[in-house]
Amino acid sequence: METMIIPSEDDKQMRLAAQIIRECGLVAFPTETVYGLGANALMSGAAEKVYAAKGRPSDNPLIVHLHDAGEAEKYAHVTPLFDKISSVYMPGPLTYILKKKPVIPDSVTGGLDTVGIRVPKNETANKLIRYSGVPIAAPSANLSGRPSTTAAAHVIADLYGRIDAIIDGGEAEIGLESTIIAEENGSVRILRPGAITVEMLRDLGCEVTLDKAVTERLSENERPLAPGMKYRHYAPRAEVTLLSGETGSINRYLLTFAGRSDTAVICYCEDEELTELSNAYVIGDRKDKKNTAHRLFSLLRELDGNSEIKYIYSSAPDTDGIGLAIFNRLVKAAGYRIIKV
Ligand code: AMP
Ligand code: MG
Repeated sequence: METMIIPSEDDKQMRLAAQIIRECGLVAFPTETVYGLGANALMSGAAEKVYAAKGRPSDNPLIVHLHDAGEAEKYAHVTPLFDKISSVYMPGPLTYILKKKPVIPDSVTGGLDTVGIRVPKNETANKLIRYSGVPIAAPSANLSGRPSTTAAAHVIADLYGRIDAIIDGGEAEIGLESTIIAEENGSVRILRPGAITVEMLRDLGCEVTLDKAVTERLSENERPLAPGMKYRHYAPRAEVTLLSGETGSINRYLLTFAGRSDTAVICYCEDEELTELSNAYVIGDRKDKKNTAHRLFSLLRELDGNSEIKYIYSSAPDTDGIGLAIFNRLVKAAGYRIIKV
């Protein structure tokens, strides 16, 4: 299949992309979190095409994207807590799990009786949903098992020839997937951390708990609340190890890999003893967590592209604010391997 590349500022082609969605085609589009692979959320066949294009297991549900939170009641049973949280954080990088209405096909929700609702803030995403006139079901626009895509070039690398169109809207601002939350006895449960942080939800007066799958490996017979969290997800070709402890001891440990072309050392600008190493990959300022989040997936893709690298070492990020989301993605990439130094 020939894949069209559409610049986001071309309004005529944006309308064509919307028509492709309406008519059961697949269009990758930018959002503020990562790129999404969009399909008409009201057509069962469209969702099946998404699973096929990504090579994704069909029990891993898609998120339904709307242009306005007020639309949610058409597709799901909204609650007072949804109204409260959505009035502050939607549009934004947040997915809210609600009981679904029958109009959303089972294939979209992987057979669950709930649906994840998100209202992207990104102008291009919002426009695509409005132009298409239907809700858009979308997972991240990557091949299953690869890191999520944060630029059109990543989407082209993974999905060119497998989908109808890719809208190029530059780099995704946040770079990590949305925070996923569900309601549990009046409190908020975080199923996947993201840029809407625990602290931001607590600021609304909500009681917030973390699903175990956010920070720990589940045993064989445990099922996470967000089905996607059970997959090892992104495992880079190289073996990833996280280091925890004092920055000084971590950096001394990382320094022992100096000159090793089979080992990548991920470090921060402040780690002056490391940044000059030939195998250092500097992710940015340690204090600038937003930048770390923004760069993480593209750095992992870059590392995957270097076949010499067999091992990747990084300090385990602290879990305040968006740090929890960065930690969650890294610890999964590391298969939960953390060495205390
Ligand atoms: P992706 O954006 O590719 O990470 O895929 C969407 C993620 O949303 C998956 O990992 C799912 O686990 C999660 N998700 C979507 N719908 C639901 C739902 N109804 N219940 C729990 N998790 C969901
Ligand atoms: Mg994904």
